[in-house]
Amino acid sequence: MLLRGMFLHVLRRFASAGAYPCVPRLGLAEPTFGRLLAACEVEGISEPSGGIVPEDFWDLASLLTASGDGSEETRWVAHAIAAGCLADDHLWRDLGLPDRRALTRLLERYFRPLRERNVGEMRWKKFFYKELCEQAGFRACKAPSCGECSDYAMCFGKE
Ligand code: SF4
Repeated sequence: MLLRGMFLHVLRRFASAGAYPCVPRLGLAEPTFGRLLAACEVEGISEPSGGIVPEDFWDLASLLTASGDGSEETRWVAHAIAAGCLADDHLWRDLGLPDRRALTRLLERYFRPLRERNVGEMRWKKFFYKELCEQAGFRACKAPSCGECSDYAMCFGKE
């Protein structure tokens, strides 16, 4: 039930005509997207006519998918979360979830290895981008450790 509400929110917010940022079909292949709509009991949506999906989206979707069980449902969730990361609010809000705890439970359910790497409970968007930086062998942090970093509140503040 919670999941269907999230997908309805994300489809309207990121995959419908006029959406910005816009991810047509949530970056899913047409048959996969069709099965998502059917699972959510959505007859159809007004799809955007085009648009370039930011490169970040694919990197984030891959990061999440690599931590999941390989199922189609997990891919749906990964793509929904990756789309949410493109907007500028807290991730749980961009996904239409009630609070951060609901998002953390979702990540535990679908992407447990990734969730468990966030040992310090960093804000989720910050954490995902930090993971991508580390995968690329790049360190974007200003300080050698979080305790002495001027960005601490941006990374670990209330979400
Ligand atoms: S608080 Fe500073 S050192 Fe820690 S993750 Fe954030 S930017 Fe990096």
